[in-house]
Amino acid sequence: MIKKNDVILLGTILLLAAAAIIFINIRKTDGSRVVITIDGEEYKTLDLNKDTTLTIEVAEGAYNTVTVKNGEVDMTEANCPDKLCVKHRKIHYNGETIVCLPHKVVLQIVGGEESEADMIAK
Ligand SMILES: [Zn+2]
Repeated sequence: MIKKNDVILLGTILLLAAAAIIFINIRKTDGSRVVITIDGEEYKTLDLNKDTTLTIEVAEGAYNTVTVKNGEVDMTEANCPDKLCVKHRKIHYNGETIVCLPHKVVLQIVGGEESEADMIAK
């Protein structure tokens, strides 16, 4: 015989499980755009669905080349001293970033509504 409390408990567990699945899915949502920031100022936003290569002249003789391909963003070239941004793996999830410290360039993946839901979840 099933008691009423058991049904409520089961229902709560199912609800939590469903919420967890939704939460995980939101966390893993691919972003839809990449925002390029130079020295704290927004420089350009690129669509991840459009393959493109953009060379940014950060300052006199300083550049970073950003490549968008197959929905992923990569810093393919830069003449910064450490080249950490070039070595960084490709990014495509919401909130992921590639930072070029010497040039103060930040690439950040952003999504649409998923991104906002993600922020609330934090
Ligand atoms: Zn760099």
